[in-house]
Amino acid sequence: MSLLEPMFAPNRRSFLKYCMITLPAVSIFPRYLTARTNQLAGKKVIVIGAGCAGLGAAQALMRAGADVTVVEGKTHIGGRISTDWSMGVPFEVGAGWIHGPDAENPTRQLSDAVGAKYVITNDDNILVFDRDGDAISKDRLEEINQKWERSLAIVDGTLEKDDLRSLRKAIDDLTVDSIGNPGFDWAISAYTEFSRGAPIGDLSATLHDEDKSFDKPDVIVTTGYSAMLTPLAKGLDIKLATKVFGVTYADDNISVKTKSGHFSADYVICSVPLGVLKSGSIKFDPALPDPYQRTIDQIGFGSVTKIAFKFDNAFWDTDVQYFGIMTEPMGRWNYWLNYRTFTNENIILGISVGAYAPIADRMSDNELARDSLEVLRGVWGDKVLPPVQMLRTSWSLDPMAFGAYSYPTPGLSAGQFDYLGRPIRNRLILAGEHTIFDYAGTTHGAYMSGLRAAQVLIKLNG
Ligand SMILES: Cc1cc2nc3c(=O)[nH]c(=O)nc-3n(C[C@H](O)[C@H](O)[C@H](O)COP(=O)(O)OP(=O)(O)OC[C@H]3O[C@@H](n4cnc5c(N)ncnc54)[C@H](O)[C@@H]3O)c2cc1C
Repeated sequence: MSLLEPMFAPNRRSFLKYCMITLPAVSIFPRYLTARTNQLAGKKVIVIGAGCAGLGAAQALMRAGADVTVVEGKTHIGGRISTDWSMGVPFEVGAGWIHGPDAENPTRQLSDAVGAKYVITNDDNILVFDRDGDAISKDRLEEINQKWERSLAIVDGTLEKDDLRSLRKAIDDLTVDSIGNPGFDWAISAYTEFSRGAPIGDLSATLHDEDKSFDKPDVIVTTGYSAMLTPLAKGLDIKLATKVFGVTYADDNISVKTKSGHFSADYVICSVPLGVLKSGSIKFDPALPDPYQRTIDQIGFGSVTKIAFKFDNAFWDTDVQYFGIMTEPMGRWNYWLNYRTFTNENIILGISVGAYAPIADRMSDNELARDSLEVLRGVWGDKVLPPVQMLRTSWSLDPMAFGAYSYPTPGLSAGQFDYLGRPIRNRLILAGEHTIFDYAGTTHGAYMSGLRAAQVLIKLNG
């Protein structure tokens, strides 16, 4: 069965394109949904947060026989998976791509289970513009890409494991004509800063690419990313708009404080984002043990800002999937996705990353529109007319997230991420993308961390 039917009647050219990118469905039901047992019969568990980590944990625990309640601060489930349809096609407020959608990727499995349709995004279908707004040649882009790859290889091949440098510092120390070169700055920002959600000045030089990935080119879910949450939420008792402000735990019980009352349980799985843990908006009593709190303080949490504009007419080349723009300062609207390559809508989606993302997050809608349209006008000039619709994000200001995804800072060890997932006093378990080094910052990583938390709890009762 083909799951990649386009969302519109394709012309011949797009038909050929879609034929080439068809992926077979890998399974009808996600293999990651566990079989039903009664291992946890009689046990009460509260899961804080209805993102894919929390829902994954809750679903697995319910299937193991536990009495599970999910408490979620927002009025909807999904957390950093959220699809906005107000433009008529999906605007992914949070996660936009399934990274490595091979048969083993649980996000792919969950999406297949709801009949999702996908489009493979082609990273090579890109046109990059220099600081004067002129398109660079394919050869020049190839040189830039090679320079980016070589510089990272030099860093990876030179540094000892305990080196405390940031990626920026290491590149600056070990390579020539890289940082400060407009082409290199664009590549390291559009590729590395985007994928890690971090400014390279804050990213560990030794751990920046030590994580793992599934296979196959990334895909966009044209039927909306958030549909994959349906099988995860099925049958669960989820209390929405129930923000947790306190967790009190002892050796024999644990309770969760919300404005709608206190909930007592045998166990709590806390899957709120790292930004929320850092903010201290949930008071743990007693305070989290030192190694946990230190790790929470040390792991980085960055932002990624998206803006989508819908125009009456496309002023850009509608066959090109991505546009790169060598903007200043680094990270400012330097990567754009052309929706015309997978929908009929004249929509273009811009991304700000690295140190610029939190700056963009703080802009008013008017300021943000002016700032990003200025970048587009630097390339397409007066052809850029006022948009008819605009959508934006500001994750670092969201009190239920305070950022986009976690990253390793200098001095951190990979094991610290997973350390956070160890049970605390055998009552409290943290989950979420920030607790799994190998797949941090992804939806599949978050989900796998939730399953792991459920497994830990089952083992505690084994
Ligand atoms: C802009 C952006 C782009 C991304 N792009 C991708 C991508 O392309 N591919 C990919 O795989 N991943 C991507 N990610 C990362 C991915 O979205 C996350 O790693 C994943 O969704 C995190 O899931 P989680 O369950 O750990 O956390 P969340 O989804 O954040 O869930 C935590 C839940 O806890 C709730 N909560 C917070 N505080 C409280 C409280 N006090 N009381 C009760 N509930 C609370 C939140 O509302 C939320 O629902 C992106 C993220 C962002 C923000």
